[in-house]
Amino acid sequence: MSDVLDVVIVGGGLVGGLTALLLAQGGVQATVLDAAPILDPEHVKSMLNPRVLALSQATIHLLKAVNVWNDLPRQMPYTGMHVWNKNGYGEIEFGQVSQFIPTADQALGSMVEPSLLNLVIQQKMLQQIQDYRTQVKVVRVEQQVECWCVELADGQILKTRLLIGADGANSFVRDQAYIGLDVLDYHQAAISCAIKTTQPHQYVARQIFLPTGPLAFLPMASLDEQENGYWQSIVWTLPEDYAEEYSAFSDAEFIQLLTRESQHMLGEVIDVRSRARFPLKARSAQHYVKAGLALIGDAAHVIHPLAGQGVNIGCLDAAVLCDVLLHDLQRGVWAHEQTLRRYEHQRKGQNAAMMHSMSAIGWLETTEITPLIFARNFGLRQVNRSTLFKDAFMQQASGLHGLKNTRYAI
Ligand SMILES: Cc1cc2nc3c(=O)[nH]c(=O)nc-3n(C[C@H](O)[C@H](O)[C@H](O)COP(=O)(O)OP(=O)(O)OC[C@H]3O[C@@H](n4cnc5c(N)ncnc54)[C@H](O)[C@@H]3O)c2cc1C
Repeated sequence: MSDVLDVVIVGGGLVGGLTALLLAQGGVQATVLDAAPILDPEHVKSMLNPRVLALSQATIHLLKAVNVWNDLPRQMPYTGMHVWNKNGYGEIEFGQVSQFIPTADQALGSMVEPSLLNLVIQQKMLQQIQDYRTQVKVVRVEQQVECWCVELADGQILKTRLLIGADGANSFVRDQAYIGLDVLDYHQAAISCAIKTTQPHQYVARQIFLPTGPLAFLPMASLDEQENGYWQSIVWTLPEDYAEEYSAFSDAEFIQLLTRESQHMLGEVIDVRSRARFPLKARSAQHYVKAGLALIGDAAHVIHPLAGQGVNIGCLDAAVLCDVLLHDLQRGVWAHEQTLRRYEHQRKGQNAAMMHSMSAIGWLETTEITPLIFARNFGLRQVNRSTLFKDAFMQQASGLHGLKNTRYAI
């Protein structure tokens, strides 16, 4: 078995890349296979990505642990969250508005463009991962006795004791391993784009629950420093037919609609860039592991973008998987099925709870059933008055509980 690798990771996005870097830090070099090309740093930095990821404190902590956080050319910390119903009285506020750019200690988390995250992760992998291959297509995955066989498009065949599928929502590894998938089609789509408003966001992330679905305004860093504070990325969840109709609007029509639907919360919307539409489906792999194989990130689960937690729970998968692997390695055991089951046990329940609560909130917030509207408004107001509830919510949103009992805990 001398030609058998210890670990192959298919997918070098944020979750797969973070896993490779955490393993390298623990003394294990993975082979990383990614279909994407090498990014041109200057090009990526000069383009404003319309979408941002709301990174939790736990994700930021992990990115600091692998020394990529400080390489990010721009990011936007936020200090507050404000959520309310358009047709009701319920509202809830966390944290505070801030007049000046907050320090790391004041921030609840940070908004970062996914293209920048992919860039800094890739740059670090180029430095630290000895066998990192880009523009590589995996065309076959097969389980053999005590190893997995991975065939590449150029005919090369790799054998590995542990195969990690970090290849995103349409995971090829998951399909080839015959791992079933539960899919919940929301019959919704999200419109995402970058916008500029006349009033500053004051470092607060805002979300309005409209009868058609939630509309989030997320502060984002601007390319032009003078305009920092006025740019935001929106994620607007809508029924599919509305999303299709609004996507066909001209920029001027869309700006007008957005100003009205956002209740002028930040004055007028005056600029819009790069509108894109994403279909929304929750997906959950029926198993996260098999003998010698583990799924992480979107390959294992895709949740509603409502709470901006998708990549954060993926990063927690990476941390827990690396922790159990490195822990057992110290005892001379590599990627035993029991080790992988411990990863599944720790992550699957937490991810499923997050997924179901997002689906339930999405439904409750858009329901038109009167007693539920009352309950929703009453509930939000009660939560808003309770410091205890708010503290518990903030603790949950930080993701730090997911690192508890691992080597990455703080
Ligand atoms: C509208 C919207 C808003 C969102 N907002 C947020 C947010 O605010 N916060 C948040 O945390 N999450 C958010 N998410 C979710 C987040 O974008 C995903 O959870 C995250 O990108 C998943 O990361 P990943 O590394 O698992 O997968 P990906 O980023 O999809 O990476 C998969 C990698 O695998 C590679 N790959 C795929 N197939 C192969 C193959 N056969 N061979 C080799 N390589 C392969 C790809 O090239 C890619 O690099 C949002 C999602 C949407 C749709």
